[in-house]
Amino acid sequence: MNWLTNYVKPKLRDLVRPKEIPDNLWHKCTKCGQMIFHRDLDKNHHVCQHCGHHMRLSVTARLELMFDEGEYTRAELPDVPSDPLKFSDRRKYKDRIKEAHAKTKEDDALIVAHGKMGGQNVVIAAFNFAYMGGSMGTAVGEGLVAASKLAIVQDAALIVVPASGGARMQEGILSLMQMARTTIGVERVKEAGLPYIVVLTDPTTGGVSASFAMLGDVAIAESGAVIGFAGRRVIEQTIREQLPDDFQTAEYLYEHGMVDMVVRRHELRPTLIKVLSLLRNTKPAGDVVELSSEDTPIESEATDNINHIPPPPDIRRPDGAPIEEGEAPVAKEKDEETPAE
Ligand SMILES: [Zn+2]
Repeated sequence: MNWLTNYVKPKLRDLVRPKEIPDNLWHKCTKCGQMIFHRDLDKNHHVCQHCGHHMRLSVTARLELMFDEGEYTRAELPDVPSDPLKFSDRRKYKDRIKEAHAKTKEDDALIVAHGKMGGQNVVIAAFNFAYMGGSMGTAVGEGLVAASKLAIVQDAALIVVPASGGARMQEGILSLMQMARTTIGVERVKEAGLPYIVVLTDPTTGGVSASFAMLGDVAIAESGAVIGFAGRRVIEQTIREQLPDDFQTAEYLYEHGMVDMVVRRHELRPTLIKVLSLLRNTKPAGDVVELSSEDTPIESEATDNINHIPPPPDIRRPDGAPIEEGEAPVAKEKDEETPAE
């Protein structure tokens, strides 16, 4: 009986056991519910090929998508005290940091990188939503100030890509102070005459949307992104009114004049390159040819027309006679007021 239990039984068990399929091969679209193969999803930059819904993109994939040939150099960011208030809620803040670090292998929620976009120098500061919801604490604030300094030193445009739930409450007032500090940081970039562009991605909320994220020279929002300050439920409870379905989406903000354009992810890089070249290449693309005064003036039908513009037909002299060609038109005098009946 031994060979039956040791050999035949496992073989039979293998036959009937369902094959193990890794659970990360297929992703379900959060909007239309269709299943998407992971390779198709990566190829499509995490945009659903069935309904066009933009799912969240990891920060590294985002940087690869934006830079020329996906090549960039990461900047080292200044060290800051990790738990200045020794904060503890349900769990210690220190433990939360450890967990986030283990999950993302990053020191905090901001990555600053420099490289080229369409051949032009750019510094990109991108938020990592996977690190504590991309929340802004002292490290992120310090990182953004460093990014603006780097942009000035490199004579580069600064592009910030927020994906954040807002200020990091575990750092209390210190995280709120970063709203003012980052504002000063991006203001310095503007004073240096360099473009500051914001690409608002899903989600941009709280203290981040209330500071540097809404101060871009050009504000570009990614299609379908949630952008707002207070959450939808909080507002509904406060004003006791039902808000529209598309409230706080990129498209809603565009309709109400809060962002300059809503761009689909596939068009993000070409759009940014176009904006950068418009803002930075202010000189003519070709050599300038000077026209000497000895050149004979161009005579054509077009220049004749400019010299002899006929007066508009409805304007006449005060005595009612038509105006001769070439004579300066005289404004019609106001009719005498008809007496009231
Ligand atoms: Zn879909």
